[in-house]
Amino acid sequence: MAIDIALINANIKTMNSTNSVAEALAITKNKIVKVGSNHEITALIDKDTKVIDLKRKTVLPGLIDTHIHVADYGRCLMWLDLTEAKSIAEIQKMVEDKAKSVPPGKWIIGQGWSEKRFKDDIMLERDVLDTAAPNNPVILYREASMICAVNTQALKLAGVTKHTQPPKGGNIDKNPDTGELTGILRETATTMVWGVVPEPTEEELLEATVVACQKIVDAGITSVHWLVISESELAIIQKMHLQNRIPFRVNVIVPEELYEKAFCLKVVNDQMLKIAGVFIVVDGYLDSKEAALVEPYSDNPTNKGKLLLNYETLKSALKKAIALGTQPVIHAMGDRAIDLTLTVIEQSQNDAIRFRIEQAAVLNKSLIDRIKKQKAVITVQPKVISTEFTVWSAIQSLGDRTRFLHPLKTLFDNQIVVAAGSDCPMEPLSALLGVQEAILRPNFPEQRLTLDEALRMYTSNAAYCAGEDSLKGSIEEGKFADLTILSYDPADVDPSTINDIKIESVMVNGVLLKDSLSII
Ligand SMILES: [Zn+2]
Repeated sequence: MAIDIALINANIKTMNSTNSVAEALAITKNKIVKVGSNHEITALIDKDTKVIDLKRKTVLPGLIDTHIHVADYGRCLMWLDLTEAKSIAEIQKMVEDKAKSVPPGKWIIGQGWSEKRFKDDIMLERDVLDTAAPNNPVILYREASMICAVNTQALKLAGVTKHTQPPKGGNIDKNPDTGELTGILRETATTMVWGVVPEPTEEELLEATVVACQKIVDAGITSVHWLVISESELAIIQKMHLQNRIPFRVNVIVPEELYEKAFCLKVVNDQMLKIAGVFIVVDGYLDSKEAALVEPYSDNPTNKGKLLLNYETLKSALKKAIALGTQPVIHAMGDRAIDLTLTVIEQSQNDAIRFRIEQAAVLNKSLIDRIKKQKAVITVQPKVISTEFTVWSAIQSLGDRTRFLHPLKTLFDNQIVVAAGSDCPMEPLSALLGVQEAILRPNFPEQRLTLDEALRMYTSNAAYCAGEDSLKGSIEEGKFADLTILSYDPADVDPSTINDIKIESVMVNGVLLKDSLSII
C-alpha cells in the first residue's frame, strides 16, 4: 500500500468506540488508511512518503464546532477589540492607529471597553475620540451593556445635538456643568448613531469572513456547522467556495425563510460544503426570558416565555426540512418548547432522521426519558452555559429547575448524544475552552463531564449529530484525514489551563493548513 503521509511517534487519541490510543497513522490522499504502532506504520513508508515525527504531541480527530456564525465573526473582527484595554490612553492610541489606516470619513467601530478596567472609573468620552480621530466618525461599544461612546463626527452624522430628546428607554449623557454632550449614549439612544453606520459592502464582508476562516483553522477546527442568517451571507459562502477560500468542511444551516435560496448554491465538492440543516426556532432565549416554560419564571410570575410555533406549524416545518433531505435543527430552550418539540418528533415516527434539539436547556427526568427514547441529539454551547449561571443568574430566574439546566452529565449517563459548539462571535471561538468549561462547571458540579466526554462533544458526537459518523469524528481507517494536533495532552495539564494548550497543526482532507511541524 502506497501512503502519502505517515505521522509517527505521536499520542493519538482516536476517540473510537473503545477509546484506544495509537502511536502512528498513515494517510493516502484525503483518508486515514491505517492507525497503529510506529512499527506498523513505518513498514508502509516508501521514498515518496512524507514522514512527520510528532515527538509525542497529541493528535485528536479534527475538532468540529456545531454552532458558529462565521460571517458575523468576520464582521466583529473588522472592529477594534477593546476588551483588554486598561486605560483611556490605550484606547485613544488604538483609535488613532486605526484612523491612520482608513480613509477620512470611514467609520471606526469598536467594542468591549469598560471603565471598570480604567483607573478612577472614568467613562470614555467624546473629546478623547475627537483627538484620536478628528476626521472619522467613531462608535465604541462598552462591554455587556447597551452603552456606547461616540465622537463629534458621529453625533453630527446622526443629527444628535445637545437639544435632541433621547428615544424612550434611552439617555444622551450631558456634562452637568456645561450641558454639552459627553458622547455617551445609553440603551435605546445608542441606535440613534448605530442607525447611520453604513452596512459593510459585500466585498468588505467577504474579506472579513476570509480572516475569520483563518482564525477558525488556527483554533484547531476542521469542520463547522455554519449558521447563516442572511441571503448576503449565502452569496459570500458561494463566492468563497468557488474561489476555494473556505479551508475547512462546512455544513450550512439556514433558517426556514432561506431554504430555496440555499439550495441554489453551486457546490463543487460536497465533501467540503453541503446544505445540511434547517434552523427551526420554537422559542426565544433564556437570558431575555423568552424561552417557553411550563411554569413562570421564578422572578416574574406573569411570564412563561412564549412559543413561536404551535404543533401544526412546527410539524409542517419539520416535514418540509425532511422532504428537502436536510436535518431539522430545532432551537428549543425552555421545557414547554422541548415538550412540544418532542411531541412532534414522537408523532413523526421517522427513524431515518437524526433529530437535533439545539440548546435544550431546561430539562427534567421525563423530558430526558423522551429524548433518550427518540434518540434525539442535544447540542450545547458550554461557554453559554457558564454565562447563564454567572451573568444571567439562572438560580434566581428558574429556582429549583436550575438543577436540570443543561444537565450534561445526566444526558451522557442516559446515553444521549450531546454535541457542542461555540456560538462565536457571541462567545469566544475555542473548542478547548468549551472542553475546559464542561469539565470545570462551577455550578451543580455533579453535572461536570469527564475529559473524554467533553472531547467527544467536539469530535465523535459532533460527527454523529450531523449523521457523519462514518466519515469523521474519530481517527479510524477509512475516515477523512482531518486532524487537530496539540502541544500537550489535555489529560496531562491542570484542567483550568486546557484552553492554553497550543494548537500545533491542523489537517483537513489530508492537507496541513497550520503547520509548525518539521517534515523529515
Ligand atoms: Zn447562534
